Amino acid sequence: MEKEQKASGLLPIEEELVYRVGWLIKLRWIAATTLLLSVTIVNYILKLPIEILPLLAIGSLIIAYNIVFKICFEKSKRNLSRNTGPFHRLANLQVATDWIALIFLIHYTGGIESLLVFCFVFHITISSILLSRLNCYWQVGFATCLLILLTLFDYLGIIGHVAMPFLPVGGFYDNPIAVGAVLLFLLAIMWTVMYLTTSVTVKLREREKGLFLLEGRLEEAYSKLEEVDEARSNFLLGVTHELRSPLASIGSTLSLFEEGYLGKTSIKQKRVVEGMQERVEFLLMLVMDLLKLTQLRERRPTQTRAKIDITKIINVVVDSLRAQAEYKGIDLQTQISSHPLYIWADAGEMELLISNLLANAIKYTSPKGNVQAKVCKQDSQVKMEVSDNGIGIVREEFAKIFKEFYRSDNAKEVDKTGTGLGLTIVKRVLEKYGGKIDVQSVVGKGSKFVFILPAMSLPKLPGR
Ligand code: ADP
Repeated sequence: MEKEQKASGLLPIEEELVYRVGWLIKLRWIAATTLLLSVTIVNYILKLPIEILPLLAIGSLIIAYNIVFKICFEKSKRNLSRNTGPFHRLANLQVATDWIALIFLIHYTGGIESLLVFCFVFHITISSILLSRLNCYWQVGFATCLLILLTLFDYLGIIGHVAMPFLPVGGFYDNPIAVGAVLLFLLAIMWTVMYLTTSVTVKLREREKGLFLLEGRLEEAYSKLEEVDEARSNFLLGVTHELRSPLASIGSTLSLFEEGYLGKTSIKQKRVVEGMQERVEFLLMLVMDLLKLTQLRERRPTQTRAKIDITKIINVVVDSLRAQAEYKGIDLQTQISSHPLYIWADAGEMELLISNLLANAIKYTSPKGNVQAKVCKQDSQVKMEVSDNGIGIVREEFAKIFKEFYRSDNAKEVDKTGTGLGLTIVKRVLEKYGGKIDVQSVVGKGSKFVFILPAMSLPKLPGR
């Protein structure tokens, strides 16, 4: 809510009023020009006998008072503050002045016989958009008085009646019942249109107000959620940090036991220690993965991002996993472009992304299998594929495997110690960079993970 108010100092509904006042001024330029042009055409080209001079004078007068309105509008806009009173007054004044101009136009084009009486409908619609319901009633009341006075003066001959050029002269104004009926009909239309249009605009305004309030509440709720999320992340970060060192020291103490540095151990004791060691290693892995995940959640500044060559990162990761692959007799191949592929990213996060995918491929592929890493540029994006001919994934699990702690049954058979967090980390990194990941897999045949990272526009660096 505050954000919007800060931009202009106004609520959206008030901004709308300012915009509409300017819009009415623009509309009036068009109306006055159209009036002047059509009067000239009707008189000089169609040669119809109309009151050319008064009509041209009215057109010019509309232009003149519109200039005054424009000046007032610009002045009020310059002194724009939380007070929109000047705009309300300007809107009311514009509508009232237009009614007077319209009454004169109607008079010079045939009184209530004139086709221009239908312009009342447009005018009432414009008023209902601009003004409050009460002001609309006042304005239509004012127009009613003007129309009654005009008809009365016309009927009584106080002002000379101007006949419509293409209607037979006389007749209508001699019949008081006809004049009264037409006037009543016109007034009924005016008030009905006013009632209908104001009902709609009042409802729309109420809804807009409701939406505005809702938006404010949503923003508040969202920021509270963010706060809770941050507190949760901080808590998790603290806990995992605290757990890491004692777990590591338990692990090394157990190694001392296993290796006999703390006295002779029986085979039975050794087996128990090995089991404990496995558990501690799993816990340490879990803590490390949770730590990475929490760090990714943190809204860390993007200062850690730099222009990096992703092919170099892939080579580093492949080299670090080569021994593991060789140990399993897996053929680890790469197809990496010899040209550098630059992206704007955090090198550590990219390493995390690639190592999780490659480690999984090695982990879930049987000995003597194949794992391949490919990277290329696609349009302005970087596309990387990690494929293997391992155990594969059931189609129904394609979406589930990216969820926290999810592990498929066939994966659990192959590797008992997985945390189920690797692909969650992968997804989180990609989300952070606006990237996407896709998985293709056939059970027993292998899997292919393909991700795309959008090219980041590099911020301007000094001397670049
Ligand atoms: P973890 O490997 O620790 O189980 P991940 O989040 O990395 O956790 O993977 C989640 C699940 O996705 C795995 O348990 C496994 O079922 C499946 N998965 C991931 N990569 C592969 C792969 N290359 N081949 C087969 N299954 C895979």
